[in-house]
Amino acid sequence: MLSSIELSSRELEMMKLMADFLAEKPELTAKIESYTTAHYALISACSEKLDIPEADAWKTFEELERKINEAEYLHVEAPYPLKKWYAVSPQEINMLRVLIDYFSPNPKMTSASGLVTSRSESVIEAHKWFFGTSEGNGELARESFRNLMEKTQTALSIRLETLAPVITTPNPYKTVLELLQIAGEKLKLDEGIHEMLKRPMRTLIVNIPVVMDDGSMRIFTGYRVQYNDALGPTKGGIRYHPELTLDEVTALSAWMTLKTAVVGLPLGGGKGGIRCNPKEMSPGELERLTRGYTRALAKFIGPYSDVPAPDVYTDAQTMAWIMDEYSQMVGCNTFGVVTGKPVCIGGSLGRNEATSRGVMYTVIKAAKHLNIELKGATVAVQGFGNVGYHAARLLHELGCKIIAISDSKGGICNSNGLDPAKVLEYKNKKGSVIGYGNCKDLTNEELLKLKCDILIPAAMENQITNTNANNINAKIVAEGANGPTTPQADEILFRNGIFVIPDILANSGGVIVSYFEQVQNQMNYYWSEEEVRSKLQNTIVNAFNEVLAVAKEHKTNMRIAAYMNALKRVADAMLVRKQMSFMLSPNPQRIGDK
Ligand code: NAP
Repeated sequence: MLSSIELSSRELEMMKLMADFLAEKPELTAKIESYTTAHYALISACSEKLDIPEADAWKTFEELERKINEAEYLHVEAPYPLKKWYAVSPQEINMLRVLIDYFSPNPKMTSASGLVTSRSESVIEAHKWFFGTSEGNGELARESFRNLMEKTQTALSIRLETLAPVITTPNPYKTVLELLQIAGEKLKLDEGIHEMLKRPMRTLIVNIPVVMDDGSMRIFTGYRVQYNDALGPTKGGIRYHPELTLDEVTALSAWMTLKTAVVGLPLGGGKGGIRCNPKEMSPGELERLTRGYTRALAKFIGPYSDVPAPDVYTDAQTMAWIMDEYSQMVGCNTFGVVTGKPVCIGGSLGRNEATSRGVMYTVIKAAKHLNIELKGATVAVQGFGNVGYHAARLLHELGCKIIAISDSKGGICNSNGLDPAKVLEYKNKKGSVIGYGNCKDLTNEELLKLKCDILIPAAMENQITNTNANNINAKIVAEGANGPTTPQADEILFRNGIFVIPDILANSGGVIVSYFEQVQNQMNYYWSEEEVRSKLQNTIVNAFNEVLAVAKEHKTNMRIAAYMNALKRVADAMLVRKQMSFMLSPNPQRIGDK
């Protein structure tokens, strides 16, 4: 399977530096001559240019070397006025591999290029030696070299396609399997059910052709994983992210299965996404991509089978496009095919802030349980999108002091407290929270270690790991994000007495109100915001109480307790549906039964 990867800005800068070295820029020539190897010259120049430690420059080189050597195809984005993507020829890719070898710590080219004097000639000689050439003077290699230099030095971005597996470490799917094992053992889960729950029910991979604004065609890979539908139609968000992997989507779909179950919704779990960088796409490109994705999935989604919703870097507009495209395909308005829509086309009041309102209700419960006064309690929030912003805003309204906020570029901190609405206004203008008045800048890693009462990771997976868990200095960790804590980190937090409200419970407010949206779409009758809020509060507070009771009874942490409650409901439904003998309680609880 071909995967598309965009080089990071560091990798791109390093490639440009390599080209500059070969273009004999005097300041770089001096550097290369004062060092024993081209590798050290590059690492030191890169570290100076990007203001990063040499060890990081070294790692960047290793990653770049691996990616280029594994690349099947390469494309560069030329600058204005062209602003167009160009394919790099196979010969130019080979030339790039020679270039990488030239700067590697152990270059293979030394013997081939030893006889020529200029750096560019030695690279051309090495190309002839590595890849063979039928013509004697290497004019083709020379042309590839010239083209490659020009494309690299002017590139706005570079992307490549590779057959090598693209993985995230730690792998979030592995996290799911580890937690299933622990909770399954405690629950004495039926072995057959456990086997089924280790794997998704259905995985769809689609390749979506999109005509880009510059007239070129790009193919994007999208996924939809329907993990388990024992309790009802699969339900879960759609994520647009440049580093999205199938294992990540699979993990997220498993968490959705457990999330809908732990709060007692009559829904299963699914998740989807597209590997793309929405920040670099125009609204038109995003719309064409979303409509293409919808057409590719149309046979497999629907109000009674699988219902998507927004997730990272998708929003109500994305849902409106999906609903519209799907409705055109089936020939009638089908509002219920997605949730998280704009209110004017069947969205629910209160859905936009629902995840964060749910986080707030669980924080209130946890604070009461731990005797923490919320007025004046200090809060640090990682991620300032839908979940992070509304969580900060709602806790600020409760009287908490928001001392730190971050986004993908970094964070800000002020011990006197921040007003989230004002920070958002600033971010909307500047593109990041960084630089907001009277604040100290800090990294995302530093934010996580801040001393505070409540820490809210509300960005991505794998933020709290065994390398930083011992430095977490909060009393409550409320997981707005999915999978921000690894199982090893979880144990450390539990040992250190930190109360974790696990993702499948803490951020379930989103799917709870999504379920309410589906119900309203089916009735074609809409509730007031107060009604939505009160139903959300009842549902999530009940689930919190149930999970806390199991945690106490089994002397385990809240995550394992939440998994146990959820697994039991899913397993009960699977057993009864497949008419297998009951191993567990025959009374699965559903939201409407109470
Ligand atoms: P979003 O609106 O797209 O916002 C994501 C935020 O995370 C942005 O502020 C982004 O920064 C920041 N971010 C991205 N990568 C980061 C990194 N490496 N370090 C720090 N910050 C980073 O997404 P969202 O809907 O709030 O979702 C956030 C998390 O909540 C995800 O784990 C999602 O699965 C989970 N969740 C969402 C919902 C929902 O209803 N939306 C429901 C349940 C769970 P920039 O602004 O700089 O891009």
